[in-house]
Amino acid sequence: MKENQGEKKDRAAMVTQALYEAYPNAKCSLYYKTPYELLIATILSAQCTDHRVNQVTQSLFKKYSTLKDFAYCDATELAKDIHSCGYHNQKARSIQGASLKIVEENNGQVPDKMEALIELPGVGRKTANCVLGEIYNLPSMVIDTHMVRIMNLLKFTATKDAKKIEFDLMELFNEKDWVKLTHMVIDHGRAVCIARRPQCQSCAISHYCPSVETKI
Ligand code: SF4
Repeated sequence: MKENQGEKKDRAAMVTQALYEAYPNAKCSLYYKTPYELLIATILSAQCTDHRVNQVTQSLFKKYSTLKDFAYCDATELAKDIHSCGYHNQKARSIQGASLKIVEENNGQVPDKMEALIELPGVGRKTANCVLGEIYNLPSMVIDTHMVRIMNLLKFTATKDAKKIEFDLMELFNEKDWVKLTHMVIDHGRAVCIARRPQCQSCAISHYCPSVETKI
């Protein structure tokens, strides 16, 4: 049966409520103390687990203890320091370039606008949304691999394009829930709706999931 936009919004609200009950403590799992540390941790997290990033940043943020340390560092040495996160040369260039731009063009302050954030080297909408939501408490959704998979299973979107998914979801979910929604869906994707082996029988949102019977 075809679902209209109003019915879809109602279902999105029920999914949100069920997720709040199932994952009341869901939050960003990256370790950081300052806005720039979150920005750097998020750049490192591309194609890498948060667990691995946290292992690396524990010593990284001691060795490079200010934003200027990253801005004026030797990128080759930085690449070695972040080697285990993968794509280390590219990530080192992004981290140094973004830090330099923030220091020299933004008075050392991590920007609080999407347009300015995505101008930074290595920063796309995913990283920018993470910073906007976590640091500035602005409504934003991070479309990571779990969000892509689960929102498709829930039929709240029908594309793998992260930007299109973000805009589809903005139409369906209440703005006040956007930041928390990302964290809850990530927890759900790690614990229950696991890629290729979703645990539908123990899923808190199975009543609202059109994919429950097919167990994709
Ligand atoms: S019912 Fe199954 S497919 Fe749907 S969200 Fe839950 S675990 Fe994922």
